[in-house]
Amino acid sequence: MERFGLDTIRNVALLSHSGAGKTSLAEAILFNAKVITRLGKVDDGNTASDYDPEETKRKISINLSVLTCQWQGTKFNLIDTPGYSDFVGEVKAALRVSDGAVIVVSAADGIEVGTEQTWGYSREAGLPALILVNKMDRENADFLKVVKEIQSRFGNKCVPVQLPIGTQTDFQGIVDLLELKAYTGSEMQETEIPSSLQGEISTWRDKLVEAVAESNDDLLEKYLDGQELTSEEMVRGLRNAVVSGGVVPILAGSALQNVGVGSLLKTVLDYLPAPKEREVVITVSGKPETSPPDEAASLAALVFKTTADPYVGKLTYFRVYNGVMASNSHVWNVSKETEERIGQLYSLRGKSQEPVTELRAGDIGAVAKLSVTATGDTLSARETPLTLPPSVFPAPVFSQAVYPKGKTDVDKMGPSLARLVEEDPSLAVRRDSDTHETILSGIGDTQLAVAAERLQRKFGVAVELSLPRVPYKETINVPSKGEYKHKKQTGGHGQYGHVLLSLEPLARGSGAQFAEKIVGGSIPKNYIPAVEKGVHEALNEGVLGGYPVVDVKVTVYDGSFHPVDSSEICFKIAGSQALKKGMAQGQPILIEPIMNLTVTVPEEFTGDVIGDLNTKRARVQGMVPQDGLNVIEAQVPQAEILHYAIDIKSLTQARGTFTVSFSHFEETPPNIQQKIIAEKEASKT
Ligand code: GDP
Repeated sequence: MERFGLDTIRNVALLSHSGAGKTSLAEAILFNAKVITRLGKVDDGNTASDYDPEETKRKISINLSVLTCQWQGTKFNLIDTPGYSDFVGEVKAALRVSDGAVIVVSAADGIEVGTEQTWGYSREAGLPALILVNKMDRENADFLKVVKEIQSRFGNKCVPVQLPIGTQTDFQGIVDLLELKAYTGSEMQETEIPSSLQGEISTWRDKLVEAVAESNDDLLEKYLDGQELTSEEMVRGLRNAVVSGGVVPILAGSALQNVGVGSLLKTVLDYLPAPKEREVVITVSGKPETSPPDEAASLAALVFKTTADPYVGKLTYFRVYNGVMASNSHVWNVSKETEERIGQLYSLRGKSQEPVTELRAGDIGAVAKLSVTATGDTLSARETPLTLPPSVFPAPVFSQAVYPKGKTDVDKMGPSLARLVEEDPSLAVRRDSDTHETILSGIGDTQLAVAAERLQRKFGVAVELSLPRVPYKETINVPSKGEYKHKKQTGGHGQYGHVLLSLEPLARGSGAQFAEKIVGGSIPKNYIPAVEKGVHEALNEGVLGGYPVVDVKVTVYDGSFHPVDSSEICFKIAGSQALKKGMAQGQPILIEPIMNLTVTVPEEFTGDVIGDLNTKRARVQGMVPQDGLNVIEAQVPQAEILHYAIDIKSLTQARGTFTVSFSHFEETPPNIQQKIIAEKEASKT
């Protein structure tokens, strides 16, 4: 078996706006590398990387998938990522373990929102990148138009290293601007350069030479002196420039027709870095330290994805940074401080796995059935524990309440949700203690809908999703008193308890308080806890809409008792009823949570976003321009922004982002209070 390591591996993330052709490209690469013998099609639902029913149904990628192939003595670990913005968590995980990125752009559609986003993420991750202008065979495909768009958006460091031969239905192949050679067809046969292209070739070759020269002082001097760069200088110069991020080569191709795919592979091989060229960051006592990767060093592997399958069990994806991980060995999970037994290791090819005896530094693979290991954990040797920084996932911004559909779903829901979160750490689950709802949060509605489908398919749990309830609360506006006498004479001995309460409004955020100020034993001490219990029960369900009562001080100050008929239960009832009366007398109101909202949008959408906020009862508090974007600060009732993640997408063509955090409670306007109370009443019947 061939051994692959730091020199002979390429870990490459495939990124794009949804639908630009990553999955088709991965398929074409596997076909060229002879891993598959038939080219699957996304439209037929039979590609190697999209195999989940949720993916084939929607014809989009939802999971990252690792596809491994060998080509010209090198092992390629391609990580196909979802383009749909709800699944950005998967993109972040993929970038964390990649050494380079291929950004796919559609030749017919040009730069789309997802292109900008993935460009941003790959820059943020400091990854060298290539851009493939795909779908050159499609109607409206226009390579140079797209190149212009790329350069105006991302800068002149993006330069073509190829030009297409023909376009749309006549797209045949590419001219390599470095070698000055032409290749056509899916076999990439070398052919003669069409004479009609000569002018363009010399223009774009000059631009390429200039970009390479600008990336290196020695080359620049030679270039400015008017000397030609040798082809060896060009290749070396371009490689250094790509690895350092100074140049981003642009290529042309058609994944569907399998044209240009071989050249893309060659460009990845020749110009994107091998693992050995990327330093390893290890956190030592909380501080990041970098060193070159080392196969002879002690094991350091980072878990970047976990999938839970009810049949196969848990599958843990990891990348080895240092050392070697062997099948049937023991490793130390540093994050959990526990030993894990490693069974059979696998190399990955989408849904299928190929057993391997070891995975060496630089490689990516998987292992089944680890017991405690989760995404983000570091696996190392017990004698030399160390930590690799995990992927950072975006904070959830969209929440829905999850309700089990049937009786059998109730018990299974909690543990199954926990396993879903393990698969997708950009999801979060919590129980809302105010509304008693289970809340599932994530990036967007599609992500949550997919999560619900998975609960059903993988764990047999049927759930319904709905917008979460707003945790309204009730309080009073003025001090008041409440009196209740519970008195009953029924046969034998009777029932008697009599309580007088005073209620005082407190400042927001004070909660509910209980005090006792009985003089002269009008209520015997031993009944006070019963009064308090009754008061607390009534505080849990206010008088307006049954919401918890807060920010009020309740004092029991008088009452009376009967030596024979009084009992704890009588005082509890009296306490509870006295509170309700006192609440009703105190001008009760509903208060609602107000959130701090920070929206970041490109300038051109600012007006629309503010206009929309004004319809949402928001108070806009400030606006700060920042690198062509506007950062808008506002306070807005939670009830108005339950689906802001969806609203902001449609308002800003998905270019806006936001964060939200709880600020304080405030009185709900009277007309809205009436509506809420009426709705609550209606839902009871
Ligand atoms: P992804 O979302 O980036 O993974 O894109 P897919 O690979 O799923 O492709 C989206 C759609 O574009 C599918 O219908 C593909 O068949 C089609 N497609 C992908 N690549 C090409 C191409 O090179 N030419 C044409 N004409 N269509 C393509």
